[in-house]
Amino acid sequence: MMRSHYCGQLNESLDGQEITLCGWVHRRRDHGGVIFLDIRDREGLAQVVFDPDRAETFAVADRVRSEFVVCIRGKVRLRPAGAVNPNIASGAIEVLGYVLDVLNDAETPPFPLNEYSDVGEETRLRYRFIDLRRPEMAEKLKLRSRITASIRRYLDENGFLDVETPILGRPTPEGARDYLVPSRTHAGNFFALPQSPQLFKQLLMVAGFDRYYQIAKCFRDEDLRADRQPEFTQIDIETSFMDEEQIMVMMEGMIRHLFAQVLEVALPNPFPRMSYAEAIGRYGSDKPDLRIPLELVEVADLMTAVDFKVFSAPAADPKCRVTALRVPQGGEKLSRKDIDDYTKFVGIYGAKGLAYIKVNDLAQGREGLQSPILKFLPDEVVTALMQRTGAQNGDLIFFGADKAKVVTEALGALRIKVGHDLGLLEGQWRPLWVVDFPMFEFDDKENRWVSLHHPFTAPKEEHLDKLAHDPGNCLSRAYDMVLNGTELGGGSMRIYRKEVQQEVFHQLGIDQLEAEEKFGFLLDALKYGCPPHGGLAFGLDRLVMLMTGAKSIRDVMAFPKTQSAACMLTGAPSTVNPKQLVELGVRVAKPVKGEG
Ligand code: ASP
Repeated sequence: MMRSHYCGQLNESLDGQEITLCGWVHRRRDHGGVIFLDIRDREGLAQVVFDPDRAETFAVADRVRSEFVVCIRGKVRLRPAGAVNPNIASGAIEVLGYVLDVLNDAETPPFPLNEYSDVGEETRLRYRFIDLRRPEMAEKLKLRSRITASIRRYLDENGFLDVETPILGRPTPEGARDYLVPSRTHAGNFFALPQSPQLFKQLLMVAGFDRYYQIAKCFRDEDLRADRQPEFTQIDIETSFMDEEQIMVMMEGMIRHLFAQVLEVALPNPFPRMSYAEAIGRYGSDKPDLRIPLELVEVADLMTAVDFKVFSAPAADPKCRVTALRVPQGGEKLSRKDIDDYTKFVGIYGAKGLAYIKVNDLAQGREGLQSPILKFLPDEVVTALMQRTGAQNGDLIFFGADKAKVVTEALGALRIKVGHDLGLLEGQWRPLWVVDFPMFEFDDKENRWVSLHHPFTAPKEEHLDKLAHDPGNCLSRAYDMVLNGTELGGGSMRIYRKEVQQEVFHQLGIDQLEAEEKFGFLLDALKYGCPPHGGLAFGLDRLVMLMTGAKSIRDVMAFPKTQSAACMLTGAPSTVNPKQLVELGVRVAKPVKGEG
């Protein structure tokens, strides 16, 4: 190898030593007869000085430009006292350049790397190989690598085997659209790219592997509204002969170990746990951000008799919620315009309005309150509301009254937004487990039960009888790990008895024929000695995003796709040679403009 040291590794301890650097010319400065080159490699920057007394080398230094690839031999020396740069790791030293080899020259890059410039994301993605030279980008990928290394080490030490599962498979029922790959050898048939290795990891348990993991690429062809990517990475895990208690302990151990090793952060031990019902009730979310101290409070029982339909009708309907959200000092801090903006904001979630009460002076009774809805509320209701919400002078109380789902989503999102807007966040890292999820959720559009997790999640033993007779109240053995309002991972104990799996399919409206056709192999496996098993999967991209403080998961992936699921760099997806299509037995119904 040509290199003896990385630029970022040079320091005072190497004073007087001859070294060889390989890297890119980050910046070139001509200081009246002396030339300075800042050389960059993946570990950082180093300053190299060229004196005119080595004429040949000096001439080369004079010729190089930004992003030329160079190899330099020189001697480390301390910088003069006034020239120390505390901002870079090698800032106390410089290198006196003896030999400078240009390994390759470079055209002027499409955007400068040696100064800040506001470059559009499309350009950054188009020239990702240059974008990734920026230290802040390289830092994130380096941290990602340390994260996976730490996780692998933990899992190896705990007896997990890394097993690969197929990329070409059958459609998996995780709920999203599949990416399909046409088969040439079975023309007219298709593979699906895995949405997750779910069924294969379960089959590995049937095969007796006991503890499996895989850092697995998964594919979901969804509309990429939010911060999603069509291909993403899961840390996929499955175990046999462990129950949910043991799995949760081991998995939070892994995350605690990771945070301690990589970020030197001590996460709580154990992580708090909360039931799904409590999370939805108090936080309006199944992934509550516990850094925000605001909570939802149920007030339906106070509103059943008020002379105000907007509140009394949902208050009497078990499918609805009437809920308050108290914002401490919100009356002082939020303007009329803020309230109008929040009203629009909750509209995104289907809320038809946002009632509120401003608490000016509790001692004055209703005179001390301010609200367009006050006139509808009798004294005893007002008093009870103030007590139940714990109102203080200066507070603002928001109300949601509608279908339970609308109120939950609207006030849940409002809670987060107000929390951020008013800077109320407490603590830096707030992990928790959410447990006791329902097995099913009723899909009004399809008029049937759908799995809240996936169809292989086991019901709680003590709820087995509800599975057939009261599916809406049947709880599952699923668990989600949540950090700062983001779902880091989720999983469950799985069904390992054939009859239970068949009953779940039945509840989901999958008849026996379809079950045999689609999941015959699973039902078979359950017949031939399937151990009790369970596991989970973490979203690696999300985890890295949180740990690096990145704003988007695109920033923690080397080569992400755009919002429309295209690769700016390679131009994928693209049309293909018609011959290939013929071979595959595929005809394109809508030819691309400008072609055949
Ligand atoms: N396969 C599940 C998912 O992708 C996770 C699990 O249950 O292990 O969400």
